Amino acid sequence: MSEPTVDAVTLRCRFCKAKNRVPVSRALEDLNKVRCGSCGSGLLRVNGEPLTDLKDEDFSHPWDAAALDKLKAIPMADTVINKLLGSTLDKLTHFNLMAGAVRIGPEQAPRLWKLYLAAAGRIGVDPPPLFLLQDPRPNAFAMGAGSPQVGVTSGLLEIADDPCILGVLGHELTHVRLGHVTYRTLVWLLLTGALKILDLFGLAALVIKPIQIALYRWYQMSELSADRGELLTTGSLETFVRTHMILSGGGGRWLPEMNVAAFIDQAHEAEALRDNDIILWVMELLSSNQRTHPLPVWRVHHGLKWAQTPAFFEILAGTAPEGLLEA
Ligand SMILES: [Zn+2]
Ligand SMILES: [Zn+2]
Repeated sequence: MSEPTVDAVTLRCRFCKAKNRVPVSRALEDLNKVRCGSCGSGLLRVNGEPLTDLKDEDFSHPWDAAALDKLKAIPMADTVINKLLGSTLDKLTHFNLMAGAVRIGPEQAPRLWKLYLAAAGRIGVDPPPLFLLQDPRPNAFAMGAGSPQVGVTSGLLEIADDPCILGVLGHELTHVRLGHVTYRTLVWLLLTGALKILDLFGLAALVIKPIQIALYRWYQMSELSADRGELLTTGSLETFVRTHMILSGGGGRWLPEMNVAAFIDQAHEAEALRDNDIILWVMELLSSNQRTHPLPVWRVHHGLKWAQTPAFFEILAGTAPEGLLEA
């Protein structure tokens, strides 16, 4: 039950209040070019200004919210994770990053820091510490329990340009904003075989199969929400698709050879192949080499669909709720 897509939206100009009917597919080619017919101002906030009126429920994927509620309803799970695992895990994570990665700031890789602050300001998150790790695999993560910390790999910076990096940072900060990080960290512990840590804390009960499956399933759903945050951060559908194409394969000197439109077709085909059988979900996750961001191609389908809903335009127009009229 994803939100229905529409062919056109009617948006009220923030400046002159004129109503504008906007065809969705043409708008998505370049959101920057969506202008008010009366005063010529840009109708959508796509130039990095903070989305100050953004609410979690505006962009949290319904599948994510529903699955997270179920996880939170598991007796003790939340309390146990936060109280027992929480502070120790945060200390371990922080020490590991402080002792093994480069802490980014105004004096350290300032361009990356600027992108980070821009992403945080855009989607309204108090930015946690940011670290850069030496790792050829392009990746990013938010980890911890209570005090999240964000990391990006050198491999990501090698093959992604600044708009893509901005989007990826917005993606991670969305995980932070929507309260995903503790549960995502638990999944990571399960997947990387760090079960012994759970035993130490008497959390073996959490590792029973049904709970694991629920966690894995939600983990994928949480990606769909974070991808929405990624889309909002850059305000560019092209950047979103290109980022996922690069993360799936290619990039660098092969980028000129690669075709965004063909990749979009592939993403829709991937969705058609999806089977709701929960076993398949788990297998998909496990077969993706314990990547912290599984199924980057499949997720493009869902990002594209959301970009065709009134909700997406409503957020960017900044006139919610009464500014957006019936499509
Ligand atoms: Zn206007
Ligand atoms: Zn993610």
